[in-house]
Amino acid sequence: MRKYFENLYKKDCKAFYSELEQWVKTEQKKFIITANPEIFMQGEKDSAVNQMLSDSAVTTVADGIGIVKCAKLLNIDIPERIPGVEVSEKLLQIANENSSSLFLFGAKRDILEALCRVISEKFPNINIVGCEDGYTEDKDGVFEQIKTLSPDIVLVALGVPAQEKLIYKHLSDFKKGIFVGVGGSFDVLSGAKARAPKFFIKCNIEWLYRILKEPSRLKRFYNSNVKFIFAVKRESKIK
Ligand code: UDP
Repeated sequence: MRKYFENLYKKDCKAFYSELEQWVKTEQKKFIITANPEIFMQGEKDSAVNQMLSDSAVTTVADGIGIVKCAKLLNIDIPERIPGVEVSEKLLQIANENSSSLFLFGAKRDILEALCRVISEKFPNINIVGCEDGYTEDKDGVFEQIKTLSPDIVLVALGVPAQEKLIYKHLSDFKKGIFVGVGGSFDVLSGAKARAPKFFIKCNIEWLYRILKEPSRLKRFYNSNVKFIFAVKRESKIK
């Protein structure tokens, strides 16, 4: 797992957002993973996830505080979290400033429709070239549609790691585009779900808020985060 940490983006949010802006302006092709312990644990079991987390062409930022803290155990300095939902928000701002084209893929239909309305109101310069909810059977087919549209930005909200696996599978067929797996961000950006109050965000316990609001997440949290800490501790003892 050490190699996943070594491959992480190691600068702060400010530097990342400035690079993100440049990538959009210069029409680069970039795949951004906003990593939490869950995807690092999946990398140990799933070869496609292992490959993308080890790929230096993929930009992996530390979304979860667990990643930031555990990096320290391995003597790798990650200055701060770069939360996935903030990456999505920032990308929308940048897209608005640059009149970029956008494709939205994922979440439930009503959430997606609400998000399109929010974007049209708050970011009127964004050109939404297409959107598809995340419950369609033929997800590869949606990517075929995205290829013909060649948008500047593609946000995929299907949950970890399905969203990342789908992007990675099709990435080589694109010449440009910023691709991000954004998890539950559509739910938040559409206004359907509230993000944690500032106190939780500031204290880096946004994960606790999500469990309190949705106790069904507890099992998922244990399976990924608690086991993750033990896995990193074991690794930190191997020289
Ligand atoms: N989702 C989807 N299709 C699926 C499964 C999930 O579109 O087959 C969506 C779901 O509606 C939600 C997002 O994927 O909007 C995942 O949200 P979650 O909060 O679980 O993601 P996290 O940020 O915790 O990875």
